[in-house]
Amino acid sequence: MNIKNRIEQIKASLPAHVELIAVSKTQPVERIREAMEAGQLAFGENKVQEMLPKQEVLPQAQWHMIGHLQTNKVKYIVPFIHLIHSVDSMKLLAEINKRAARINRVVPCLLQVHIAQEETKFGFSPDELRNILNGTEIHALQHVQIRGLMGMATFTPDQDQIRKEFKSLRKLFDILKESSLPKQVSMNILSMGMSHDYRIAIEEGSTMIRIGTAIFGERTA
Ligand SMILES: *Cc1c(COP(=O)(O)O)cnc(C)c1O
Repeated sequence: MNIKNRIEQIKASLPAHVELIAVSKTQPVERIREAMEAGQLAFGENKVQEMLPKQEVLPQAQWHMIGHLQTNKVKYIVPFIHLIHSVDSMKLLAEINKRAARINRVVPCLLQVHIAQEETKFGFSPDELRNILNGTEIHALQHVQIRGLMGMATFTPDQDQIRKEFKSLRKLFDILKESSLPKQVSMNILSMGMSHDYRIAIEEGSTMIRIGTAIFGERTA
């Protein structure tokens, strides 16, 4: 099957409230163009230096930052980024706000939550998240719009483990959604699910899935 068929097949299987982000990391521009011909507009990259040249040739696509973002790279993506999924510190959020203010933009962001058992993954703990949302610091950030949460489950064949982790994120999302939040924070997007676990993620309430391999095939790089 080609890229176009795979996108069409995945899209046909998604509930209407779930948005597909095609994860194009390591893929050349020609393959991203192929995906765009299938009507796919949203692409996810995990490295700034890889996203920039792609964005330059394909500015009409919506670019999503899904990987760990260093503060010194924020300035390069703030002018065009559609959504930053991977905000994992207040320092990073403050830098995004500062750079966005300079060009009078409001940058949409998600807060990444650490739900996996693996230490290697980034993100806030649920307690840290609550402290930030209840804190005063966030009120000063007028140039970021926090639209929801992102999480990655443990890389494991244990489906129950994956489900448990997605369930915990969904629960946190729902609790926050019902609580009183600072005005630049809303809980509308729950970004969870990759090629091997997106079906479970959708069952557990995901509204945005990030799919690479199931669209483009195995990455060699
Ligand atoms: C690479 C990546 C994905 C996509 O992974 P696949 O298994 O290829 O679908 C999703 N989210 C993040 C954060 C990634 O780095």
